[in-house]
Amino acid sequence: MSALSGVGVGRGIAVAKVLRMPEPLAPPSDEPLEADAAAEHERVREALAAVAADLDARAAAAGGDAQAVLEAASLMAQDPAILDDVRTRLDGGANAERATWDAYAAFRDMLTAMGGYMAERATDLDDVAQRVVARLRGVPAPGVPVSDEPFILVARDLAPADTATLDLDKTLALVTQDGGPTSHTAILARSKSLPAVVGVVGLLAAAADGQRAIVDAKAGTVVLDPDDASVAAARAEREMRLAAASAPVTPGALADGTPVPLMANVGSAKDAPAAVEAGAEGVGLFRTEFLFLGASTAPTVEQQTAAYTDVLRAFPGKKVVVRVLDAGADKPLAFLNDAHEENPALGLRGIRALRASEQILRDQLTALAAAQEATDADLFVMAPMIADREETEYFVRLGREMGLRSVGAMAEVPSIAVLADQVLEVADFVSIGTNDLTQYTMAADRQLGSVAALQDPWHPAVLRLVKMLGDAGAAAGKPVGVCGEAAADPALAVVLVGLGVTSLSMSASAIADVRAELLTVTREEARERAARALAASSAAAARAAAAAR
Ligand code: PEP
Ligand code: MG
Repeated sequence: MSALSGVGVGRGIAVAKVLRMPEPLAPPSDEPLEADAAAEHERVREALAAVAADLDARAAAAGGDAQAVLEAASLMAQDPAILDDVRTRLDGGANAERATWDAYAAFRDMLTAMGGYMAERATDLDDVAQRVVARLRGVPAPGVPVSDEPFILVARDLAPADTATLDLDKTLALVTQDGGPTSHTAILARSKSLPAVVGVVGLLAAAADGQRAIVDAKAGTVVLDPDDASVAAARAEREMRLAAASAPVTPGALADGTPVPLMANVGSAKDAPAAVEAGAEGVGLFRTEFLFLGASTAPTVEQQTAAYTDVLRAFPGKKVVVRVLDAGADKPLAFLNDAHEENPALGLRGIRALRASEQILRDQLTALAAAQEATDADLFVMAPMIADREETEYFVRLGREMGLRSVGAMAEVPSIAVLADQVLEVADFVSIGTNDLTQYTMAADRQLGSVAALQDPWHPAVLRLVKMLGDAGAAAGKPVGVCGEAAADPALAVVLVGLGVTSLSMSASAIADVRAELLTVTREEARERAARALAASSAAAARAAAAAR
């Protein structure tokens, strides 16, 4: 029995066998073709047919959105133009793997150049190419493994495309060596209600296929080869947590009745049903860039109006906070971030990128104003990465010019907390993005497993900035919410409320646990816990101090 630790995402526990995600294939060698070109051509043809058949079978089993994605991939494997191109390359002396790899790369470049929908499909070709080359090489295809038995997926990290094809009936938990608690892998795991532990140092050296493991997301631990007593204890704890999560759905409040609205983070209208079911009192963060990740040209006003109206319609009479496009760093958008930057997290991202392409921002605000008029949701619009009062004034002025009623700023850059009083004179509200606020306060890349320990919103430096924002909000009489992943940690949610935060927004799957925890403390107790955490000298000490009686 051996235990590893990382950063937990969610509160669940899973007990199952480990299944490892294959590493991506190394590119083929440039060795010239030594075999007969016609025979190699036949071998590639067979590999393509087998990959297409495999993708079709997966598509039929997957259903829903994943089915369409996989069927499209199967068609890409059957395209006769690919096979013709492979033949030309074989005749030119390339080996079979290299010829296939390059044929797909040329096809991908062609689609990218076409722009629009075709360009969005270009990256899917890489996955097909990897599958075909894996078959030629006689090794397992990369991508999410398939199993008839439930399993714990162990990977270096997962791409969003991998999670699209995850079989949720079989995948009980995710464990990754890379990635921090706020990486988008973690966010996706949370949105699918999968327990996960990320940033587990030494994971890939320790975990083997078929090994039994316990994953405890709340504790942030992975126990490999647990004994039977540990397994029994984990199963009992799992039952207890499931029972707590199914308590009645009520509006968020503290034990003394102080309301703390609990809102949902969404990426599109598809996330709305889960949010409504979890009792979300509205949307605290609609990440609009999720709709356009992969697009090579800016979406039209009409496309955007339709997408935003869909989301707003799902929350009649409720507050919906929409963030304008947050392009750059971990969420690049080709039509907003075209320059190469050494440090994209410190580059032209968020409001900076939008200002540099103001027509794109104007189009988005126009579409949001149209959605506001078309629905009876209470629309709030905010900009990411606002640093100071001048940027706030710029965005608020533009928002009002476009007819928006409530315009605010996200607090993600530490300077905004230091200048919170000035910013709240101008903004109608502030929403704290603790993921980026932590990244920038601690100078720790949120996507890097090796610094995941520093990427901890419990750090008193981050909590002190939250307090500055909470105090400024109270003085100005304006709302200050939290929409970063910190809001989804029940113990931290209490501390945030104690620091003056007025609402919490999180993945729908986290709402039940946060609701249950808030109901156990009064406002006074929340403030006491916050004061103890603020006085601590490390994230771990803050966690322990808040928990101490
Ligand atoms: C954040 O930074 O906390 C946030 C909510 O935005 P994102 O995670 O999308 O960067
Ligand atoms: Mg952010």
